[in-house]
Amino acid sequence: MAEEMEVHGAMMRLALQEAVQGAEGGEVPVGAVLVDGFGDLIAKAHNMPISQCDPTAHAEILVLREGARRIGNYRLPGTVLYVTIEPCAMCVGAMLHARVSTLVFGARDPKSGAAGSVVDLTTVSTFNHTIEVVGGVEEESCARVIQDFFRRRRLQLDGRTGRGTEVAVTGSTRNRLVL
Ligand SMILES: [Zn+2]
Repeated sequence: MAEEMEVHGAMMRLALQEAVQGAEGGEVPVGAVLVDGFGDLIAKAHNMPISQCDPTAHAEILVLREGARRIGNYRLPGTVLYVTIEPCAMCVGAMLHARVSTLVFGARDPKSGAAGSVVDLTTVSTFNHTIEVVGGVEEESCARVIQDFFRRRRLQLDGRTGRGTEVAVTGSTRNRLVL
């Protein structure tokens, strides 16, 4: 169990590196990695909806696409998906379609989290698949990357407009970037 948490921590730190890369590109910093049943890393990505003009380009969707391409199968049984922030309903939906075995996330998303915060789609017994969930891995670091990003954004906006930006950016979660 302790060994398993060590692996989770190491993989989450890779996802965090992805998140930071995303922030450098102006994206809300959410990173994800996908690991196969043998423990091998098969995909990594960060959020790209802004740069790709694609509302579905969340980090989780991107690693599922890349992982499925690499494995040559749209089903990904036995895989573990690591993501820095609790996934949204779309992403948990995609994980259910892909038959991901385990979801490991960092910080909770009280505004749009679909693994327990707003709703829990991972354990609906009437769906044809359920996902094991481990939350709170590297939680503080994952939350800090997002909080720092929005703090910087607010400062930049304050500098540009010379006034408060409460309307533009008030949230600390990924889906609140409305600029
Ligand atoms: Zn999502």
